[in-house]
Amino acid sequence: MPSSTVSYTAQNGTREPGLMHRSLLERPHQVVSGSGIYLTLADGSRIIDGCGGAAVAVIGHGNKEVKEAIIQQYSDVAYVHTMTYTTSSAEELANELTELSKPFGLTKAFFVCSGSEAMDATMKLARQYHFENGQLQRTKFVSRRQAYHGGTIGAMSVSSNLPRKIPYEGALLLDNVSYVSPAYAYHGQKDNETEDQYAARLVQELDDEFQRQGPETVIAFVAETVGGATAACITPPRGYFAGVRKVCDKYGILLILDEVMCGSGRMGTYFAFEPEGDVRPDLLTLGKGLGGGYAPIAGILISQRVVDVLAKGSASFVHGQTYQAHPAGCAAALAVQRVLKREDLVAKCHTKGAFLEKRLRSALGDAKYVGEIRGRGFFWGIEYVQDRASKRPFKPEVKFHKRIHAAAHDRGLAIYPGAGTIDGINGDHSILAPPLTATEEELEEMVRLLKEAYDAVEEELGSTMK
Ligand SMILES: *Cc1c(COP(=O)(O)O)cnc(C)c1O
Repeated sequence: MPSSTVSYTAQNGTREPGLMHRSLLERPHQVVSGSGIYLTLADGSRIIDGCGGAAVAVIGHGNKEVKEAIIQQYSDVAYVHTMTYTTSSAEELANELTELSKPFGLTKAFFVCSGSEAMDATMKLARQYHFENGQLQRTKFVSRRQAYHGGTIGAMSVSSNLPRKIPYEGALLLDNVSYVSPAYAYHGQKDNETEDQYAARLVQELDDEFQRQGPETVIAFVAETVGGATAACITPPRGYFAGVRKVCDKYGILLILDEVMCGSGRMGTYFAFEPEGDVRPDLLTLGKGLGGGYAPIAGILISQRVVDVLAKGSASFVHGQTYQAHPAGCAAALAVQRVLKREDLVAKCHTKGAFLEKRLRSALGDAKYVGEIRGRGFFWGIEYVQDRASKRPFKPEVKFHKRIHAAAHDRGLAIYPGAGTIDGINGDHSILAPPLTATEEELEEMVRLLKEAYDAVEEELGSTMK
């Protein structure tokens, strides 16, 4: 079994690391520097970062302008407490983002340090909206299966990434959350169903779930606009979110879109919901790409409708964090936004995304174990199956996603692996999410290495799989 990580004993003698790594058995590679699409490891080898970690490095590594902006902020002031003080970095970042989101009704921004915190804060804000409206009976959230929203208690509770929840069942999960089907055409759409019919069926399922719960008891529906790490870049069927918006409106239920992974330009539009028709979320979260890896920062964009209700009521969000709107985090994210804008990277992502799609499909579209290639812009998922006709996945113990990940890493390409694609247990995928700065030549090289890695794994399995 190939492994892209090195065992403790094999590397650097005997010292047990003080750092709690993700695995107690394997040690990650040490990175000594990053520049553009490249990471350099301690052993001198160079890796093409084809996934920006988890779709984080939106403008690549080592950007000097962002570094200067952070240093400038630290030279001016490292920290202020938001109860009494503010900084131009925080104000300007909020203004830049709301400039983009105002046409969709989102007029204020709130900043925290991670996507998980953003989701928990969003859930609180949604509840507070109904509280201020005198609708105290609204206590429930409806979410979707095969979704990831974060690791904190609220975010974990609306997530349905099973392996990440099982140990906490019965102790640390909210029980006021129910789930509907993901918008996942590859496994969900029936053979005799059109895309529109599939979307309509999913919307009806949501309406039915609201009815089952009692629609007057539901706070919000929570969804990733484009499903990220759990089921790999699942784009919604046409008309789905417009339908979802209507059903939410029918019952006064808020719509929370989680764009922590798919937002910030990665889909070829700044917000992933933009091509989905008339879909105005009440609350939207951003993270990962917002700071592009230069600082831990995430945000909530808040609709005027929610702001108005708070303004008429308590006039404040009952939620504060010591490091909210941290000056250096905001300075980093602001600089990232300015690079995106000046270099027109979101529009370029749209056009170069079409190029990337073409290359991916021609390299892997007909491959024996590739079930589906899906996504948009610079966010592509490849779902692997053992049998294309029946869409039967590999047995989990084959660890197909790990084999591809390791084979790619051995060839100098970082991709983001995932398992449990279909139901939390079965299914394998890889995600390709390059920096928006990647050139066509660089994208081509990524696809070439991925294809090589795939071919090696197919051959390796050839002898054992029939
Ligand atoms: C990563 C992610 C989160 C959680 O963000 P963290 O910064 O890891 O806390 C939330 N929602 C989605 C869609 C994500 O991909």
